[in-house]
Amino acid sequence: MLTAIVGINWGDEGKGRMVDLLSADYDIICRYQGGNNAGHTVINDKGKFILNLLPSGVFRDNAVNVMGGGMVIDIEHLCGEIKSLKDSGLELSPKNLKISDKAFICFPYHKQQDILEEERLKDKQYGSTRRGIAPVYGDKYMKKGLRMCDLLNPGTIKQKLLDILEWKTIILSGYGGASYIEKNILLNWLLEFGKELQPYIIDTTNYLQKEVASGKKVMFEAQLGALRDIDYGIYPYTSSSQTLAAYAPIGAGLPGAQLDSVIGVMKAYSSCVGEGPFVVEMFGEEATALREAGGEYGAATSRPRRVGAFDVPASCYGVQVQGAKEIALTKLDVLSYMEKIPVCVAYEIDGVQTAEFTTGDALTKAKPVYEYLDGWQTDISACRAKTELPAAALEYVRFIENAVGCPISYVSVGADREQYVEF
Ligand code: GDP
Ligand code: MG
Repeated sequence: MLTAIVGINWGDEGKGRMVDLLSADYDIICRYQGGNNAGHTVINDKGKFILNLLPSGVFRDNAVNVMGGGMVIDIEHLCGEIKSLKDSGLELSPKNLKISDKAFICFPYHKQQDILEEERLKDKQYGSTRRGIAPVYGDKYMKKGLRMCDLLNPGTIKQKLLDILEWKTIILSGYGGASYIEKNILLNWLLEFGKELQPYIIDTTNYLQKEVASGKKVMFEAQLGALRDIDYGIYPYTSSSQTLAAYAPIGAGLPGAQLDSVIGVMKAYSSCVGEGPFVVEMFGEEATALREAGGEYGAATSRPRRVGAFDVPASCYGVQVQGAKEIALTKLDVLSYMEKIPVCVAYEIDGVQTAEFTTGDALTKAKPVYEYLDGWQTDISACRAKTELPAAALEYVRFIENAVGCPISYVSVGADREQYVEF
């Protein structure tokens, strides 16, 4: 059984909390793309955690967590994340955490390049998390990267790094920033954190193939959402990796496998961190009210998120490109304060209404067309069954389910693991 849990929107849909919940039925949980630009919040009996690199299955005692080759790993950050879990009483060992030998290492100079480029762009910034993700993926495709497998070969890693630094110095000198490349500091950094991670590094393809053959159930955890996919998202306001479910087996280490199931995590309204066209964006008091109700501040960066109504054209597109078979609708409780709930059912572009989403330039001209649904104006965070939800809340869920054309299986009504209703 291979299942992917993926984002339908712009990210921060609540993937972490759904993986934490649904991983109970799985043996292995794999992150398959992205780096520590992710912020996956999990609240359960063990406490509140924000995971950047580790899969959200780390709280399941019998699960093995895998960091796939499609990921980019800031090794210092990962060591910090492992340590902070240990401090909370959760010990990860090479038995329950495995890191792909093919994942790329995100260096301090990637972070520096990210920051220098965002600052050069000034008001044309991409809204990067400034954690080096675009530069490290860029270097991967330029074939100027070092991988986790290199950490297993201390004899050759130094020369490989020096060769890359020769090239990187040329790139960074354009920013007047070549001084960021301190060879010895970088080498020591690599050796120090590399040594700590060595025991976890394996060939995840080999491992996963054997486990799947013996009947183990695998869950793939995505970072960000469909609209941030490098190929199918709102380029260039995307992430630098493939966030789609179709990539999950490849990014985790099972390139020949097919998914049995795709669960799309979709928010009951919209939020978007960073720049780019966001048709349903609310402003002023309306935005503040929704942002505060939803606690919409970035888990990785604490940046206030842009917020808006549920966006049907964008979400239909998300469901389609993810190939979602079922939906977990999150944060329904956040809408409880609204008397009337706006839902964007179509876009108007150059005077013409359309329900179709586009990732092209026309998106910047799109104006939202709203329908208003009745609110329920009562606290639903203690509801645990469909029958306990107010009629207007049920109607809202049904409306959205019909609009996106995909069955909703779970509705979450609070951030805690148990705050959800099965549909
Ligand atoms: P992810 O990146 O998709 O894992 O999502 P994030 O963790 O970045 O953002 C989701 C935020 O919403 C976190 O702060 C969660 O604790 C919170 N959250 C998740 N589900 C619910 C819910 O049903 N209700 C409320 N009020 N908060 C939720
Ligand atoms: Mg997040």
